[in-house]
Amino acid sequence: MVDSRLFRYDGERKLNLAEVKTDFTGDFKSKDDAAEDFKENIEAMIEEQNKLFATGGYALLIIFQAMDAAGKDGAISHVMSGLNPQGTQVYSFKQPSDEELRHDYLWRVNKCLPERGKIGIFNRSYYEEMLVVRVHDLIAGEHIPEDLTKDIWENRYEQINNYERYLFDNGIIPIKFFLNISKSEQKKRLLARIDNKAKNWKFSEADIKERNFWDEYHKCYEETINKTSSKHAPWYVVPSDKKWFSRLTISDVIVKKLKSLYLKYPQLSNEQENLLLKYRKLLNEDQAN
Ligand code: ATP
Ligand code: MG
Repeated sequence: MVDSRLFRYDGERKLNLAEVKTDFTGDFKSKDDAAEDFKENIEAMIEEQNKLFATGGYALLIIFQAMDAAGKDGAISHVMSGLNPQGTQVYSFKQPSDEELRHDYLWRVNKCLPERGKIGIFNRSYYEEMLVVRVHDLIAGEHIPEDLTKDIWENRYEQINNYERYLFDNGIIPIKFFLNISKSEQKKRLLARIDNKAKNWKFSEADIKERNFWDEYHKCYEETINKTSSKHAPWYVVPSDKKWFSRLTISDVIVKKLKSLYLKYPQLSNEQENLLLKYRKLLNEDQAN
């Protein structure tokens, strides 16, 4: 079993990115070794998602953040495999449009929040507002009155903490993953996108350019994670050099979170149960077929 608490940051301890291993796999030696546990997690997730959907009260908001080529897309498709597509919603947050830039930064996010009963997945998120926006100093493009930008990052951390508290208190439960790869693993994966014909379509010049800002991004990630880790919206810094371990860990966190909600199929009243008995009798008596 993977112990996902090892990767959890909920405000109790500080993250030092330079100290955490990106190639950690615990007791697991290989993908095959992890296959059985991963399968069990997926089956448990399907069962829990059914109950989440049936009760329509809670929703999960799963956020994926990472450097390029860390495996966000693959993690999303593998971990969500087998889930009822009607109960999931995936949104990818890219550079904001002109229209989005004319609004506050959570405007586009609010429109994408999951409905009750659903699992919402953000492929990147409002966290980009403290990452790429900071690394590339894009704040001027957001048209915020200048006198309000003095303590912008500290203010944003506070706003996000309040926002996630608000979501949690309303039954929208945030889980945040940072898929943590090493710089050398990223190089390997970017080279594969150049050398492997089937992966050529994934190659983007922008990824190479962003790679040059690795240290700046890591500094922002570390600070952001430390400032926005909380009990109600924890971060998981997932060792992701091995994709299979990353996916196993993510599935484990999601299953444990869903189980912690003690979801139950809606209970029927006596009246409703009598109705079922009545219709069972009627169907059994139906001579036509
Ligand atoms: P992939 O490369 O696997 O398709 P991706 O998430 O990197 O996934 P891209 O289309 O390559 O998708 O990049 C989206 C870009 O949009 C990222 O570089 C991200 O930093 C940027 N972005 C997201 N949100 C914002 C924001 N609020 N302001 C500025 N840039 C943003
Ligand atoms: Mg990209």
